Amino acid sequence: MQYGDLVKVYEAIESTASRLEMADILANLFRSSDCKNIRTIVYMTQGNIVPDFYPEKLGMADKLYLRALSMATGQKGSRIKELWDKEGDTGKVTELVFANKSQTTLFSQDLTLERVHTALLKICRADGDGSQDLKMKLLADILHDAKPNEAKYIARLATGRMRIGIAAQTVIDALAIAFATKADKPDIERAFNITSDLGLVGETLCQNGIDGVRGMKVHVGNPIRAMLAERLSSPEELLERLDGKAMFEYKYDGLRIQAHISDSGIKLYSRRLEDMTEQFPDVAKALREAFTGVDAIVEGECVPIDINTGEFLPFQEVSHRRGRKHDLSEAIEDYPVRFHLFDCLYFDGEDLTLKPLPQRRETLSKCVKITPSVKLSEAKVLDDPEKVQTFFMQALADGCEGLMAKSIANDSIYRAGARGYLWIKYKKEYRSEMNDTVDLVAVGAFYGRGKRGGTYGALLMATYNPDSDSFETVCKLGSGFSDVDLATIPEKLNKTKLDSKFTRVNSKLEADVWFEPYLVLEVRGAEITLSPIHTCERGAIRDDAGFAIRFPRYTGTTRIDKKARDATTSAEITDMYRKQLKQSN
Ligand code: AMP
Repeated sequence: MQYGDLVKVYEAIESTASRLEMADILANLFRSSDCKNIRTIVYMTQGNIVPDFYPEKLGMADKLYLRALSMATGQKGSRIKELWDKEGDTGKVTELVFANKSQTTLFSQDLTLERVHTALLKICRADGDGSQDLKMKLLADILHDAKPNEAKYIARLATGRMRIGIAAQTVIDALAIAFATKADKPDIERAFNITSDLGLVGETLCQNGIDGVRGMKVHVGNPIRAMLAERLSSPEELLERLDGKAMFEYKYDGLRIQAHISDSGIKLYSRRLEDMTEQFPDVAKALREAFTGVDAIVEGECVPIDINTGEFLPFQEVSHRRGRKHDLSEAIEDYPVRFHLFDCLYFDGEDLTLKPLPQRRETLSKCVKITPSVKLSEAKVLDDPEKVQTFFMQALADGCEGLMAKSIANDSIYRAGARGYLWIKYKKEYRSEMNDTVDLVAVGAFYGRGKRGGTYGALLMATYNPDSDSFETVCKLGSGFSDVDLATIPEKLNKTKLDSKFTRVNSKLEADVWFEPYLVLEVRGAEITLSPIHTCERGAIRDDAGFAIRFPRYTGTTRIDKKARDATTSAEITDMYRKQLKQSN
């Protein structure tokens, strides 16, 4: 097939706003194409050359692209740079350069679809010494034989900005029109959702018809498109929607990972189907140790943990690992994660995606051993709104975003790639920065781990309650300390070390070391939450909960001007909590 035939279709699609018309145009192309080309056509119409989960990513640097353009057309680099400075768009520059290019090129070869595809694939795979030159030559070679309109689309594709943006749904519509019927569309959708490879689905449909597509199976190694959740905002609504009874799980604030486990290794995919295996070798290793079967696809949330406080860290901490190929092991040590599994989609040869949730959950609990780094999501089957609310508060206190409510009915299948009411999120609505810093007293400490071995890893911090003349705990503080702080603060604290808890400290936590309340540190947190663990103004809002500061960080300021009893009071924290609620309403 000539690349030009595909370009004509791009042009026709770009000139219509109607989705139906787009699908018709594409369907005609599919019908008139050889089955062996369907895969490439499907990828390319979506601005890609392989399925999303493959490692090859388009996105050549503009500068490199422009050098290839100069090489292919013989136009001076300085002229091309001038155009680039003016237009700032590689597609546009290409059009202008080609408009000036002499029409007849000696020794030009046919520009087939396969040739463009192969060149782009090689470009993506080129790595190491000399790869920049190789990429440039490969690109120049196809540009050399391109017509102006073809060159424009090659420019866009190579730099990863295809822009014509045909949604997967339109491609599915077109495939149904070309090779099946409208009624077959759910089968085509399902095949895509369980393989994440629309090119493969298209090729199978062209070659073997709809029965071929119906026979497509879940495969370990092919990510399954993520099931998504709707949202509701009260326990009553959740229960009503889920037939009065449902499974409630902690909603962790981390990175969703789908793990594919087999003899040949473990692959980890993000919700967007990116291959994350290299970034999380520790997760793969922990899973290998925890997994008891032959092969499986399991899903869960990876949450960063503060090794010193044992508490969850903000989700962004996981992103420290991105792009750190060389010092990844350091990042793993500094930002360890825990994997909370919540689903099992495949186990020992059996596809579980069409089984109800309780069965999947049971399989999940059998196929992994609980370890410090691999756990199941906290889950409870509940039918009482009060109990749901209590569980919700507990989830918040434990550093989660809220709850996921999941249907446990007979039809509670894993609806790959779809958002629906089989899963419903119930999140805390407000998410405001704490406006003010607070001044807290160190009343205890916990021994450190990792880099903080031999010193304190976290401090137990308290507010002051003048009514009862007591110090009430409000958080464990482990972040924001510089190396100098880590050396000097323990020294100061040790001067007030006690053999047991200071009598005026009210704590449910058992610290490793206790201090006389003396050192006041300035702390900034993300927000104030209710907590069953901390004692700050316990009972002010709920009998069984005090307040906690979420994600506390030392600001670097020690309030030497304040004595322990000058610290932020518990009542001030209550006020801040109420203001926070108001802001969110
Ligand atoms: P949202 O990103 O707010 O639409 O919420 C859905 C996301 O919550 C999922 O994609 C998961 O990454 C995450 N999540 C956290 N805990 C759970 C859980 N127990 N079950 C399902 N998803 C969860």
